[in-house]
Amino acid sequence: MNIDHISLDIKINPSVSSVIACGKITLSNIQTEISGILLNPDLTWHKLAIIINEKEFLVDALEEKLAEDSFLKVAKNWKIILPNAVKNERNINLYFEYSGKILQTTFDINYIRENVVELADYAAWYPLIWGENFSFDLTLHSPENWVWMSNGNSLHCRECFKWRSSTKQNSIVLFGFPKENAIPEEKEMRIWGSVTNYHKFISLEKNFKKMERRLKEWLDPTNQDDFKIILVPRSKGGAYVRGNMMIYPEDLPDNYFTELWRNVVTAWTHELSHIWFNKTNPDEWHNWIDESLADYCAFIVAKEEFGEEFFNQLIKKRTELIKEEKGLPSLKETKRDHKQAYTLYYYWGTLIHNNISKEIGLEKMKDVIKDLAKKSKIKDKIETLDYVESLNKITGKDWTDYIYKMVSETPEV
Ligand SMILES: [Zn+2]
Repeated sequence: MNIDHISLDIKINPSVSSVIACGKITLSNIQTEISGILLNPDLTWHKLAIIINEKEFLVDALEEKLAEDSFLKVAKNWKIILPNAVKNERNINLYFEYSGKILQTTFDINYIRENVVELADYAAWYPLIWGENFSFDLTLHSPENWVWMSNGNSLHCRECFKWRSSTKQNSIVLFGFPKENAIPEEKEMRIWGSVTNYHKFISLEKNFKKMERRLKEWLDPTNQDDFKIILVPRSKGGAYVRGNMMIYPEDLPDNYFTELWRNVVTAWTHELSHIWFNKTNPDEWHNWIDESLADYCAFIVAKEEFGEEFFNQLIKKRTELIKEEKGLPSLKETKRDHKQAYTLYYYWGTLIHNNISKEIGLEKMKDVIKDLAKKSKIKDKIETLDYVESLNKITGKDWTDYIYKMVSETPEV
């Protein structure tokens, strides 16, 4: 079963944390049922119907137990059995209406409050089928004098807010603030959201834009929207990235703005680099390509911006972190949910690139990465072999054995 498109029309009342919504999910490759629909436990279905050729067939949602390994811990899991009349249809539209409140969410990092709204998949605020990428249309009705941002392209609407994402994404996110609490929107800004601590972030943003300029000059600007960092008023729960948006808590320890500011900007640049490196399958070991190249791209522009010594410190730290790990498996036999995957995909992966760079020189290495970035833009899926091919093409040497040795053996530093 695939989700192709979601149209959602929603009214949010922040003062009572409530939503009223209706919409349509376009699905294809259906078998006999639609299962795994997740929705916030405090939302109630009012109507569900399958629509085929403008004919409507009312259906019921049956609640099933949430899977134990479900990423969402606060959600109800629903299943819809198709009526006999539509059993042979493979492509259908599911119409839905629901309403209720958003009071509890997974990890408590999403909420609708009187003076702020942060909605991502953690809230299950729209019918969510995990692991599917879809395009979407979102229409929002909200109180006057609120400002909003979502991960689609903003469309004009006199009495509402509208966004459309033609590119497929894995979730819809929505952030809202009363106008006086939000950073004024400008074209050139990268940071938006809660204005409370913005004065602390201004110099980070300025430096981040320098990194962005360097990345774009090197890897070519893409046709994607600019990257946005959304400041949200919470201190726990940490940051997360959805599409070209990074959601970031505004309450950071003071040293993030002083001695650690270069590290913060470098970490942001890792997320920005995923604009070019996001085509590996997260369930396969090849995902190390995306994570390690996002890191190494950030490190390279950090070297250009902050100097050799800062770069050497970053590499030294990764080397030490690998040394400290006991019993590391090989990268190739490690999936992303393994507890040591981070060390292998990010740290070891980055060191593999850096070792190659030391041998062929930084300029050639940048050409290799640029070549892969170009491929990544066109292809639907990237694997380790694509990286090897770029290496071989740019250097005129065969790197196949070297790369496969690096990913098949226990890391040695
Ligand atoms: Zn990443």
